[in-house]
Amino acid sequence: MSYSEKVIAELRDRYADQPEFLQAAIEVLETIEPALEAHPEFEEAALLERLVEPERVVMFRVPWVDDEGKIQVNRGFRVEYNSALGPYKGGLRFNPTVTLGMLKFLGFEQIFKNSLTTLPMGGGKGGSDFDPKGKSNREVMAFCQSFMTELARHIGPNTDVPAGDLGVGGREIGYLFGQYKRLKNEWSGVLTGKGLTFGGSLARTEATGYGLVYFVDEYLKSSGDSFEGKTVVVHGSGNVAIYAIQKVTQLGGKVIAASDTKGWIEDPDGVDYKVLEGIYNKKRSGHDAGVSLAMYVDERPGATWHDGDGRGVWQLPCDIALPCARENTLHLDDAKALVANGCKVVGEGANMPTTPDATIYLQKNGVAFMPGKAANAGGVLVSGLEMSQNAEHLSWSFEEVDGKLESLMRGMFHNVDDTARAYGHEGDFVTGANIAGFLKVADAMMAQGV
Ligand code: GLU
Repeated sequence: MSYSEKVIAELRDRYADQPEFLQAAIEVLETIEPALEAHPEFEEAALLERLVEPERVVMFRVPWVDDEGKIQVNRGFRVEYNSALGPYKGGLRFNPTVTLGMLKFLGFEQIFKNSLTTLPMGGGKGGSDFDPKGKSNREVMAFCQSFMTELARHIGPNTDVPAGDLGVGGREIGYLFGQYKRLKNEWSGVLTGKGLTFGGSLARTEATGYGLVYFVDEYLKSSGDSFEGKTVVVHGSGNVAIYAIQKVTQLGGKVIAASDTKGWIEDPDGVDYKVLEGIYNKKRSGHDAGVSLAMYVDERPGATWHDGDGRGVWQLPCDIALPCARENTLHLDDAKALVANGCKVVGEGANMPTTPDATIYLQKNGVAFMPGKAANAGGVLVSGLEMSQNAEHLSWSFEEVDGKLESLMRGMFHNVDDTARAYGHEGDFVTGANIAGFLKVADAMMAQGV
């Protein structure tokens, strides 16, 4: 039994109740095998056993009062996974599906994602089973203040710097930041994704979507191709999807579909990101009852709306597919449809949207598969740039931030590509990303001792 097989067996025994975490951890441990063979000293140092265990997990009660005057109780978490490379860094997710296992999966992925950005950030993730959907602004504020009342004692600009994720956008970050400042009597860059008037970075909103497209574009360029004239389908219509669509369109591609939890749209003239942005802002305004992507066709009569599972987008013929919604939303059947319809590239804008069997099918059938931990790192990358701007009490122009994002994402593609090749897995960007992300963390952990 190899070293990683041993650790995987232990994980399966211990964490059978955390399926998303197991899925993410097994994927990483299996693919870094060639790097472990080249470094027998890692086993002696129990490096993997240490890596899979979070340095700290905080779990807490979040009581708040709703608009009817009733007391509600939610559960809050912060997983401080690994600080070898820098302060814990990663988003907060507010969604009813949030569990410790879910946040451990996201936190584990974040370690390697942050490592790939080349910026000094450790890995963490947090959140709550609170659902901001359908809540008033006052309720969201009451929840955020209560959540931060506990979280504040565990975080700090040099300790742990949370940001947004699903269900946590500018509104929530603003309320969380206000409460932190009130409690600590200190203005600091303790959260990223802040509003532009109080320390937020230009291009942070666009960062994940733009970064995804820069990464895929660099792959296309390296094979003598480009987005020009390409047909693209997108799953999702939130923050990542919107700005991926804008950037694809700017680079000459055409996005023909997008989705939400109620269905999907097809727009043969090319999806207009501005219309999606308007719908998204309405959904996030605190008056979201009845707002859905279906409203898109009111403004774009050439488009059609399809009720049901947003995964319908995977049935459309396309050159490039960008899953930008959430985990496990591109299944084996979807992968088969994509391959049968001529898709050549899949770029993950979300975290782990492709199931393991679908990933293998795509890779075996000649699809260039760009894993999320590299391809969607643009968000946290610009969060890192926001931390730099806060630390030097400056703000950089949109062009400056976007320029750094673009060059770091393009550089990241080459790091991933070169690493895959160096370890005998040319064209396998999953292995390349996992090994490149892992080796930097492993090196820092070895240097820092047990
Ligand atoms: N939630 C984003 C991610 O999955 C961004 C995290 C951050 O900016 O810290 O990477």
